[in-house]
Amino acid sequence: MLEVNDLHVSYGAVNAVQGVSMKADAGRVTVVLGANGAGKTTSLRAIAGYHRPKSGSVTIGGQDVAGRRAHTMVRHGLVLVPEGRRVFSTLTVEENLRVGGYRAPRSRVAKTLAEVYEQFPILAERRNGAAGLLSGGEQQMLAFGRAVMSQPKVILMDEPSMGLAPTMVDTVMGKVRDIADTGIAVLIVEQNADAALRIADEVSVITRGRTVWTGPAADASLAAVHAVLGETAL
Ligand code: ATP
Repeated sequence: MLEVNDLHVSYGAVNAVQGVSMKADAGRVTVVLGANGAGKTTSLRAIAGYHRPKSGSVTIGGQDVAGRRAHTMVRHGLVLVPEGRRVFSTLTVEENLRVGGYRAPRSRVAKTLAEVYEQFPILAERRNGAAGLLSGGEQQMLAFGRAVMSQPKVILMDEPSMGLAPTMVDTVMGKVRDIADTGIAVLIVEQNADAALRIADEVSVITRGRTVWTGPAADASLAAVHAVLGETAL
């Protein structure tokens, strides 16, 4: 569904990403692991159209979309859930979800909203409450639900476990698995390798701006991942 090949991204003279390749397939969870500063966020932002890549290809369903802006990417079926959730804290939960579905016809929005409430019952319970009053984990669910509202083919998530209590990390990872099981391609970047590997189908490892390993999760032994990333990263 999504294929990224030999992506290069710079900030002025800083070459933050210099050869990242990754893939996300329908119904599968791809986990991208990497230490602090490895270039994970930069890669996701470039793929999702928030930062122009210097070179490399990005295709969705075979169509080259590299360098397109974020709103165009959403039209092509790719949406990013950014690090730190970024929900609209003064809007209600439902208003946040409706923002995610702003491109869809009204009749579709009602149906998708009902599906999201079924997938995330906590959001249904809190639908009229301000998003800013939700816990960190609940806000992560909201950011996730908002992405689902755009009826994407591919969801990219930046560090969904960041700042969450361990039990909430498991809940969020469980939701990532559930959403992939509905047929969406889900690609998450994580520093929490232990939690992410539990739900991964495919794994990619980035060190210093480059993809150094890609393969099925069954072959990504935790020991190897630790060795590549360095213990301090995990
Ligand atoms: P983290 O998990 O800490 O967010 P990361 O793997 O997502 O790390 P990036 O945030 O993509 O890494 O950063 C990759 C490199 O690019 C780092 O060396 C970082 O210092 C640099 N970098 C990131 N953003 C900018 C920026 N706006 N201007 C200049 N350099 C940047």
